[in-house]
Amino acid sequence: MAKQILILGGGYGGLLTALTARKHLSASEANITIINKFSTHQIITELHRLAGGTIKEQAVALPLQKLLGDKNVNIVVDTIQEIKPNEKQVLTSSGAVHKYDALVVALGSETNYFGIPGLEANSLILKSASDANRIRAHVEARLDAYKASGNKADATIVVGGGGLTGVELVGEFADKLPEVCRAKGIDFNDISIYCVEAGLSILPVFPSVLIERAVTSLEKRGVTFLTGVAITEATNNSVSLKSGQTIEASTIIWTGGVKGNQVVGSCGIAEDRGRATVTSTLQSTSHEDIFLAGDCAVVFPEGSERPYPPTAQLAWQMGETVGYNLSVQLKGGVMEKFVPVFSGTLGSLGRKDGIGTIGGKNTQLKGLPATLMKEASNVRYLSHIHGLFALAY
Ligand code: NAD
Repeated sequence: MAKQILILGGGYGGLLTALTARKHLSASEANITIINKFSTHQIITELHRLAGGTIKEQAVALPLQKLLGDKNVNIVVDTIQEIKPNEKQVLTSSGAVHKYDALVVALGSETNYFGIPGLEANSLILKSASDANRIRAHVEARLDAYKASGNKADATIVVGGGGLTGVELVGEFADKLPEVCRAKGIDFNDISIYCVEAGLSILPVFPSVLIERAVTSLEKRGVTFLTGVAITEATNNSVSLKSGQTIEASTIIWTGGVKGNQVVGSCGIAEDRGRATVTSTLQSTSHEDIFLAGDCAVVFPEGSERPYPPTAQLAWQMGETVGYNLSVQLKGGVMEKFVPVFSGTLGSLGRKDGIGTIGGKNTQLKGLPATLMKEASNVRYLSHIHGLFALAY
């Protein structure tokens, strides 16, 4: 009889698990179900462009049905409420109970607000297509309010966090807002775009020459970086900084970090600060019938105490390893160890500029080559998941 494989999450880890598992397991060997809170697989690495308004939602939210419909994978749109690993059951918010023989948990990460007063209630985040739409609509509404009242807070945007999410987002604002302002009859020089970073520098993953490139390029286009100052409080129209400064702003976007997924951290499988711990074959260290893919797991390079970063690149590769290992668990054979391959890191600085380090030698890229490489990496991913139709938007 076909075994029941349940995959929680339709992001990079979950989708790649489903696609890979189906290559190795026929419908008579395994019934595969993927449960996701959206009906779409979302290209998180391009969300900043939707938030800025340079692409349409269809470019980043690809219907799971279109990607998996002909692969004999059942798609359930629902939110996971509880995992009961000892009873081999998963409960969803619609009240459904799903049973499994093998479970894949690929639920991603959650925003970390670090307990900063007022931040969760008064900021927007960028973790899904609807978040991105919310940001775009909010910015437009505040600009309209600015036009009507002249209140400077309505013309001020504060992005908290100078990691790749924050920097790519201010890059889109810097490119797109001049045009938006022109259309609304607002002088773009009235707009303030801040990126506030607690660390001494933005983008610490990059060499200093590329960090300088990012700062210079974005400052020229109207972004102000405040580094070495943490956000300590937020209200609906202001941000307080550790330096004592207060910025009046009615758009606050928080990109200050991620933490493990609460459903995963509290379900009773082995975890480390909320992220599931895994074996070299990406099985839970406490439950061998549970596999993990993506940010909800913590993976340490051999001999290191510093885990791999929570990136899309890694989630994709973890999904492929998990998909294969599921087939081994069901049919026999030797499981694959997870050995990530790092192709590099690319960050956009708006539509026409970017930075990156690629390849084993960390070759540095800036400007058009980085922009083109970033576009190529998106095309490569879409082609891999048979999602090139998204490029039409
Ligand atoms: P991050 O953790 O990389 O960056 C968050 C930043 O916020 C940090 O620099 C941190 O110092 C800062 N911060 C924390 N508390 C703060 C405070 N109180 N005030 C001001 N700043 C504060 O988070 P991210 O940018 O969302 O990225 C998450 C992961 O996803 C990373 O591994 C990143 O590399 C990856 N990512 C990759 C891409 C890409 O490849 N293009 C794009 C986005 C994210």
